[in-house]
Amino acid sequence: MAQINRCDTISQRCCYCDQKLQLPAARYTQQALICPRCNSKLEDGNSWSLSRLTVLAISILILAPIAFWQPLISIHLLGSQIDANVFTGVKLMSQQGSPLTAAIVAFCAIAAPLFLPLSILYLSLGSRIGMNLRPILLVLGRLKEWVMLDVYLVGLGVAAIKLQDYATIFIGNGLIAFICITILSLLMLIHLDLERLWSRFYPQASHGVENNALICRACDYTAPPNQRGVCQRCHRPLHAREPASMQKSCAALIAAMVLLFPANLLPISIVYLNGQRMEDTIYSGVVSLIQSGNWPIALIVFIASIFVPFLKIIVMIILLISIRINSALDPILRMKLLRFVSWIGRWSMLDLFVIALMMTLINRDQLMSFTLGPAAFYFGVAVILTIIAVEWLDSRLIWDTYAKRTTTK
Ligand SMILES: [Zn+2]
Ligand SMILES: [Zn+2]
Repeated sequence: MAQINRCDTISQRCCYCDQKLQLPAARYTQQALICPRCNSKLEDGNSWSLSRLTVLAISILILAPIAFWQPLISIHLLGSQIDANVFTGVKLMSQQGSPLTAAIVAFCAIAAPLFLPLSILYLSLGSRIGMNLRPILLVLGRLKEWVMLDVYLVGLGVAAIKLQDYATIFIGNGLIAFICITILSLLMLIHLDLERLWSRFYPQASHGVENNALICRACDYTAPPNQRGVCQRCHRPLHAREPASMQKSCAALIAAMVLLFPANLLPISIVYLNGQRMEDTIYSGVVSLIQSGNWPIALIVFIASIFVPFLKIIVMIILLISIRINSALDPILRMKLLRFVSWIGRWSMLDLFVIALMMTLINRDQLMSFTLGPAAFYFGVAVILTIIAVEWLDSRLIWDTYAKRTTTK
């Protein structure tokens, strides 16, 4: 491999605002790289080597069976002990007629967290035997939001506190393993530097930012598209701006807004106690938590399930309108809002995880049982749609309209 001089620079464009940048070629240092125009972090500056990430991945995979199959918490209810783990929650949800809601929980709490270490192992082994690593690198770039072990862990705490009124709670064998894989996955996501892996497996010459060079939003490589109009490094279609980004984002947002009505008006959980049926919507669930004195938990559930989805929709509407009308709103503020909604969105899944755990634990047929209501599905899909709406919005449009405005002045 060619020796890189410490003073050399690489010409690149910022994938958030399209600014031309000169980045140091010897860039895998412990220093973060921030775009001077939009203040977005281009590189965290704390990247770990693939071998270190592989060690983390192996540790996660060894702990995963204990964390997912062993009980996380157990309760003594009506004379018998019931255990809850991630798998039983998903299984019960699908058996009780909500396979789609179960699939949402399974994807965020099992599939995505397992895909992360498995893909690191694939990269580590595949690079030695010359396999195609592009699809894995591309999926890894999109995976961050969907690994929701930390959200699940908070959900476990919420479920445990909610259940205190009904039963005695014990810590299960799997809990320590679950906390460990949550911490290891977070470490992996923080220290995983995809740009470093891309340039290691698919090194490309620097093209400079002149002559129709575009930044690829999938792999962050700046170069002109090849004859087929695709990125030279990751082979994804390359566009100056994502086609129909506003329309797609808007459509996902409208669908999410429509779904939030049944999600909030229909019951999200149903409790049968001594033959009596009690239904709770998201809002009445929060109110009953306040009434029982659990106001910190009520606040967490309120923020995650009511405040965040609505805030996200309002912020996205403001951003979309600001682009549409060439607003003068500070683009750096708009970028901050976009980063904020993309960071906070996943926490809305909390309530679904709490319901999955409660279903497993309170399941005594006639005497007492807890099941999910029709709102759970609408709520899950609405949260996913808001995450997708943020993903689909090409943030470079914010800067285009801003530039248009400043040049016409
Ligand atoms: Zn930028
Ligand atoms: Zn690319």
